[in-house]
Amino acid sequence: MNKIIFLVFTFLSASTWAESKVTYCPTNSFIGIQIRNNLNFPIIACSDVQSRLEMAVTQAQKITTVDLSKTFLVIYNQDLPKGSAYSWVTSTMSVDISDIQSTDNSMAVFHHEMGHKIYFETLSKVVPEVSERMPKILAHQDYLKKCQSTSTPEIGCDPVQTNSEIQKLNDSFSKQFDQFIYITTPYNELFADIVASLVLDDVNAIAKVMAECTNSDYACEYRAFSKNTIDKFAGENPYSRFSPIRRDLWDGYVALRSDDTDKLLKELADVFIDESYSHFVEDYKLIEGMSALVEIKRLKTRMNLNVLESPTIKYGLQ
Ligand SMILES: [Zn+2]
Repeated sequence: MNKIIFLVFTFLSASTWAESKVTYCPTNSFIGIQIRNNLNFPIIACSDVQSRLEMAVTQAQKITTVDLSKTFLVIYNQDLPKGSAYSWVTSTMSVDISDIQSTDNSMAVFHHEMGHKIYFETLSKVVPEVSERMPKILAHQDYLKKCQSTSTPEIGCDPVQTNSEIQKLNDSFSKQFDQFIYITTPYNELFADIVASLVLDDVNAIAKVMAECTNSDYACEYRAFSKNTIDKFAGENPYSRFSPIRRDLWDGYVALRSDDTDKLLKELADVFIDESYSHFVEDYKLIEGMSALVEIKRLKTRMNLNVLESPTIKYGLQ
């Protein structure tokens, strides 16, 4: 979800260790579940969140054949600076549950992060720098299962060595690959919002859980699929890059293919990744507002999205 590859380490620094406690929730729905309770905030127990997250992943699994259980969950009982996030290098989803009462309302965010995992599945097959590294990424999943999903890790688990190995892997991508990630991120965010909407059967699932929206500020509309809006961030915000064609994309492409969501998501990821991988070198050289215009124009032509009316200016979500 960031311009550079975002790596979420699963180890607490020594300074925070004294105030934190790790709880392990035995599960078959994920690689593992860790709850990292900061003792200065209300404590979360497995019974508070586990069944809800397991039900959520079962629900998400209905729309895709990508194995979502190959995800390691690390739950925090405090606000994370960047909110919830998925790191494909470590197969780890960091989940921000600072307010247990609102967990059900935040499920759209969980499904959005699962969307990144589904996008990565195609990325790992299409982009050579990722394909080459898959054995190490899969080995890390094994490590998490054996060493990080239980309070009694197997003999031979060495967090320090593994930490340095995964850091090395993260640092091993080329500068050009970083440029590709920068260009593909807005597509990835758009894709993840589509996944959240499909799972929850609500075109505005993500828009509705944004803070602006819950405060009745319609600034959240740029994440809605019920309308095309103006990209008020002029291409600088990866979440708003495709706001001007969101409704057209949904009505003119997604809705027409929603009978087979697995096929739809594969095709969509193919298009988005091909678009960004084929053009990232030239797009990266442009200023953001300009690359946004170029990318939108290309996508509209390629996906045959006919704009029926000008961007909707009426406020309010459907
Ligand atoms: Zn995201």
